[in-house]
Amino acid sequence: MADAATPTESEQPPSRRRSARTGTRGSGVRRHNLAALLERLHVEGSTSRSELGAGLGLNRSTIADLVQELEECGLVVEQGVASQSGPGRPSPMVHVRPEAAVALAVEVGVESVAVATIGLGGHVFDLASAALPSPGTSPEDLVGLVADLSVSLTRDLPAERVVAVGAAVPGLTRRTDGFVRLAPNLGWKEVPFGAMLAAALDLAPEQVHVANEADLGALGEHRRGAGRGFDNLVFVSGEVGIGAGLVIGGRPMLGAAGYAGEAGHMLVNPTGRRCTCGARGCWETEAGEAALLRAVGPSSTPDADVVRSVLERVEAKDPVALRAVARTGRWLGLGIGNLVNLLNPEVVVLGGMFQTLHPHLREAMMDAVRRQSLDEVLGSLEVVPSALGTSAQLHGAAELGLAGVLADPTVLRPGVPSPVGQ
Ligand SMILES: [Zn+2]
Repeated sequence: MADAATPTESEQPPSRRRSARTGTRGSGVRRHNLAALLERLHVEGSTSRSELGAGLGLNRSTIADLVQELEECGLVVEQGVASQSGPGRPSPMVHVRPEAAVALAVEVGVESVAVATIGLGGHVFDLASAALPSPGTSPEDLVGLVADLSVSLTRDLPAERVVAVGAAVPGLTRRTDGFVRLAPNLGWKEVPFGAMLAAALDLAPEQVHVANEADLGALGEHRRGAGRGFDNLVFVSGEVGIGAGLVIGGRPMLGAAGYAGEAGHMLVNPTGRRCTCGARGCWETEAGEAALLRAVGPSSTPDADVVRSVLERVEAKDPVALRAVARTGRWLGLGIGNLVNLLNPEVVVLGGMFQTLHPHLREAMMDAVRRQSLDEVLGSLEVVPSALGTSAQLHGAAELGLAGVLADPTVLRPGVPSPVGQ
């Protein structure tokens, strides 16, 4: 997992250990340990104090002290004891309080928008979604829709515990201020989406975090889905376009400006079709939804359930649909093989329509992956469907929103000014 290295007890200066209880915001080491403790509970779930101590390399009294401070911040609760397998006193179980810090997670799709309230531990309180009118929704209308959906979702939550918004957008997004440079499948260009969301939701700009949807899908799968336990993963999401999110060495790989992972625009066929980006033969022109639709023939109509209808035809052994899905599998595998050679991941997680069609395109895809990638690089690579389905991006968006509290849990200490400057 991507846990940050935690200083062990022996690495802490003695003076800091002594002053830790009083210097809640002053001690960097203590804050680091509080963050590591909360992070572990948030990702791994309820854990006994003794397991926490062993995992973080901290002694019993230090763990008890840190847990007490997180309790004072309202973030965790001790309840019950771990079942005992050896000698010694039973160890109390520590649990996060999901309602202590909640993110409003937003996923902007081409055909729909979803909003969820997700708390510590990845607990989903509520979820709402709405279809978007075709052929595209203006940023203003979309922000209004998000605001409408969020009203009922947050009604029963204390306002001060809804700490931030995380939003996933299918496009090139500047993380520093949520500015969407380009979202071709939404028809958006140069949209100050983060600022618009903040205004519509009556939040401070620093409470709103916006990122690319595939990057957040990768984050969601890494923390809570099929990528758990792998430090090197590629998430490939097939919707109208194809996006990839990368986690390498346990950390998101975002690139210089945050735009890495535009794998849908890798060249796979120099004589192929023109892409929405203006280039020719991009991966998404061959393995994306439009290519699948062309291959299944004129009887298919482009609507929201198009992949579902292809799936039904495949399950009914319709030969045209079977060939079309195998063709998608071959092009998908060719692109994955390229990514494997480039990045040497341990696991590739498939989202969107690739997850839906995975059982039927798997064989053709894996043949192409094996043909394209070097055996040594391929190693024991696994290509697996998403474990979170359509909520991978929402979980990633929630992680983005909760990152501030996870990095410094003391911001929620009673009496400390709001973490977000309101
Ligand atoms: Zn392209």
